[in-house]
Amino acid sequence: GLSADAYCRRHEITVTGDNVIQPFTSFEATGFPSELLREMRQAGFSAPTPIQAQSWPIAIQGRDIVAIAKTGSGKTLGYLVPSFILMKQRRNHNPRLGPTVLVLSPTRELATQIQDEAVKFGKSSRISCTCLYGGAPKGPQLRDLDRGVDIVVATPGRLNDILEMKRVSLHQVSYLVLDEADRMLDMGFEPQIRKIVKEVPSRRQTLMYTATWPKEVRRIAADLLVNPVQVNIGNVDE
Ligand code: ADP
Ligand code: MG
Repeated sequence: GLSADAYCRRHEITVTGDNVIQPFTSFEATGFPSELLREMRQAGFSAPTPIQAQSWPIAIQGRDIVAIAKTGSGKTLGYLVPSFILMKQRRNHNPRLGPTVLVLSPTRELATQIQDEAVKFGKSSRISCTCLYGGAPKGPQLRDLDRGVDIVVATPGRLNDILEMKRVSLHQVSYLVLDEADRMLDMGFEPQIRKIVKEVPSRRQTLMYTATWPKEVRRIAADLLVNPVQVNIGNVDE
């Protein structure tokens, strides 16, 4: 295979931050459980996408990440797969008392797609996942939460409503993902995001995925992430 440097040059990966971590340039290099790799191969994937290759080793080490990569680059599994691995390592949590992984997403449609990927690729890791979004009755969502879940994927508005009802606790969340951070801010979700993050322990890992890197996104990253590694794929729109 290619050397890490050649791989990064070929795929226009730039990484900034302390202790640069080399990408996993193939599925074999990940050391992930064989059932998980089999699921990805069965989906027709032959290798990690560049954002996955570079995000996976950083996330597995517990570092905060800001990842900037365009739509369609495979960001979802970029953050979900490490969450499966880390959850299996820390099996001391009680799903009935709340999720350990929280993914915030701007829209119902995107949140549902993330849940579908989590269910499909998390099956072999026995991961459970539920989705919270507005424009639908709360009853079934509350019942799913009561049953217990590892991963919650939520739009900020609905999660905030459910938090105000005290029907979910985020005190066990150790892995927080802000997906499509630029879109969430464009949609005016910043106040809800900040309220939600206050409910998550400060001893956590935070990952932010965005297609663009304007100053509003940089500001919230500076507030919510600790010593992140920044990963850029290709050119970045400011
Ligand atoms: P993004 O969030 O960056 O817009 P997605 O995570 O939605 O991208 O992924 C885009 C598409 O690529 C999805 O259909 C997904 O299943 C597929 N995909 C994910 N990982 C890989 C991979 N390693 N190889 C090929 N396709 C992949
Ligand atoms: Mg996405």
